Amino acid sequence: MIDFRSDTVTQPSLAMREVMFNAPLGDDVYGDDPSVNALEKFASERHGFASALFCSSGTQANLLALMAHCQRGDEYICGQSAHNYKFEGGGAAVLGSIQPQPIENENDGTLCFNKLKAAIKPNDFHFAHTRLLSLENTIAGKVLKLEYLAQARRFVDFHNLALHLDGARVYNAAAELDIDITAITTHFDSVSICLSKGLGAPVGSLLLGSEELINTAKRWRKVLGGGMRQAGMLAAAGHYALEHNSKRLIDDHHNARYLAEQLANISGFEVDLSINTTNMVYAKVADHIDINALADKLKAQGILISPNHNLRLVTHLGITCADIKQFIRLLSAHI
Ligand SMILES: *Cc1c(COP(=O)(O)O)cnc(C)c1O
Repeated sequence: MIDFRSDTVTQPSLAMREVMFNAPLGDDVYGDDPSVNALEKFASERHGFASALFCSSGTQANLLALMAHCQRGDEYICGQSAHNYKFEGGGAAVLGSIQPQPIENENDGTLCFNKLKAAIKPNDFHFAHTRLLSLENTIAGKVLKLEYLAQARRFVDFHNLALHLDGARVYNAAAELDIDITAITTHFDSVSICLSKGLGAPVGSLLLGSEELINTAKRWRKVLGGGMRQAGMLAAAGHYALEHNSKRLIDDHHNARYLAEQLANISGFEVDLSINTTNMVYAKVADHIDINALADKLKAQGILISPNHNLRLVTHLGITCADIKQFIRLLSAHI
């Protein structure tokens, strides 16, 4: 199957499976798993943090960050379209008693500092305590500029807030900007990174932060049932992904660009080629096209898409340029 639904669908390569198979294991709740310990040590140093925590998912890593930065009755500010506001079941409120304060994202994915400033609550018992600003990079595939991140750092320092990055796809941002990952992570107090999206590991995310923050997060991870025992098989895959699969993400971006250009030539598919959305392609599908029927036909021919008139196609290590050509050929035949 050629699967355009998401970059979460990647399968571990043979080399990755071999590393998983051979990973030395122990009980990570006792701190005894050498492969988890090696990943956490590598990840903290690689990204410029004192400490790192291997988590079951990006959702869990973000929730742990929010619960480590904020107490009951505190508040975090984030984008209206932030994953950790909109797509994580309201976990911060449900499980952390933390109030989200969403702000409408600008078209480039940023949050406007004037709007942020207006949202920060005064120190008065009518209000929740504003503790944290949470950004996302990439956001809907868009890369936040380094200059914006530096401004965000100055903003939070001035207002005495902490700064978290939902960096599920932060390696896509680094690949696109052709910079070392630390040029991005250096601005943040905590960062979550998905190992199981474009990086191609089967399961797992990282949370990075200070030793104190990670110790708090580790406690909440246990409370939430996220203390995993011989997790080293998964950690080893994540470690392999970080070391081998980050540079190749630019190939996914080139493939996505090619896909966007080809799709824009097909009638009924409107693609805005002026926006760079890294490994994502967005298209508005004309009303007269029966998108569900189209998805069914493509599925019968070995291609998976999420049927939606706001179509999102995602490139990843399981999709080659030849796959894209095949998709465009079949799609054109159906339109
Ligand atoms: C996928 C994603 C997450 C959550 O990751 P899961 O591992 O699916 O829980 C968080 N933030 C962003 C921006 C994501 O794309």
